[in-house]
Amino acid sequence: MKPLLPDKNGHYGVFGGQYMPETLMTPLRDLEAAYRRLRRDASFKREVEYYLRHYAGRPTPLYFCKQLSSVLGRGRIYLKREDLLHTGSHKINNALAQGLLARRMGKKRIVAETGAGQHGVATATVCALFGLECHVYMGTEDMERQALNVYRMKLLGARVVPVTSGSRTLKDAMSEAIRDWVTNVKTTYYLLGSVGGPHPYPEMVRDFQTVIGKEARQQVLKIEGRLPKYLVACVGGGSNSIGLFHPFYNDRSVRFLGVEAAGFGLKTGRHSATLVAGRVGVLHGAKSFLLQDKDGQVKIAHSVAAGLDYPGVGPEHAYYRQTGRAQYAAVTDREAIEAFGLLSKTEGIIPALESSHALAYLPKLAKHLKKNDIVIVCLSGRGDKDANTLSHESH
Ligand SMILES: *Cc1c(COP(=O)(O)O)cnc(C)c1O
Repeated sequence: MKPLLPDKNGHYGVFGGQYMPETLMTPLRDLEAAYRRLRRDASFKREVEYYLRHYAGRPTPLYFCKQLSSVLGRGRIYLKREDLLHTGSHKINNALAQGLLARRMGKKRIVAETGAGQHGVATATVCALFGLECHVYMGTEDMERQALNVYRMKLLGARVVPVTSGSRTLKDAMSEAIRDWVTNVKTTYYLLGSVGGPHPYPEMVRDFQTVIGKEARQQVLKIEGRLPKYLVACVGGGSNSIGLFHPFYNDRSVRFLGVEAAGFGLKTGRHSATLVAGRVGVLHGAKSFLLQDKDGQVKIAHSVAAGLDYPGVGPEHAYYRQTGRAQYAAVTDREAIEAFGLLSKTEGIIPALESSHALAYLPKLAKHLKKNDIVIVCLSGRGDKDANTLSHESH
């Protein structure tokens, strides 16, 4: 089997790399060395597995949606239930593993960025658990939209640092977290929440999230005795989707479908559909697709789902897009909100607005399915955090 990317400098084809200030090159190399060593270390692996199982609640179920499949008319729809994990989303998989990595590296101070607040909550949780000092950078726009998560982080003992620059969302929070890391690099570990940023983060976070796809692959083979036709997941930075897709990379019959946020509609320019409507550029240390104007200035992203509201995307997705290994589509805020209601009513599961984007593509996908085609959707998180936002919507 073809070895999977990246190459040793963190490139996925032309994408990825390390576009970073000189002061961070040594810390990035140290991080990579520590990760390479620990990923072969049996006691580290056991430790990660222990916390995933006994603390976070893995393995998560692969659940067959009988009603939803019947409403759609074609296909056998399964949900990979990351929404059932401790803290409510897949973010805890990565936060736990990186928290353990930081501890092994002897770092006691953690910085992180957050958009929806899910990664901030997961990081604050892990810091409380392992006795680490925690600083979470968050745009003030997101702090308003996700007030409950701000409260949760504070309750967990984290300091939430408001970011008032730029669009006051995830992109700016990430820039500030990187700035903090540059300043305090000796004592500090930067716990990045998705598969973006400079090498080795995209590879490392992917590896920590592939537990989703590894479990799903075993589960579907056990339940159905065959592989799925489609894997569907929402794409913000790209971690829950890569986590599901990657372990199926060499199963050529399995198609990958990433769903981005079309916001108010692609034509309005107010969206977060980086792979569908962006161009190649560099943001936060990696070359990938990103939303930019004709002068190359990064554009403000929009989505009703705070966790998708980011103008960049992980470089491995850029490579999947370029090579055709995955297809990418986008659905609007309105379509996502409809899917949010549909899953709640048909299956009694309230999905996160982010995950609702993946669900919203199902009616379109169903047209291309045969009756018994298997589809696995990553239900990346639960929707409790969004109930407040949606109860203010007019419909
Ligand atoms: C953060 C988040 C996402 C988007 O991030 P990815 O890195 O693309 O997975 C999706 N769903 C939920 C529930 C999230 O919290």
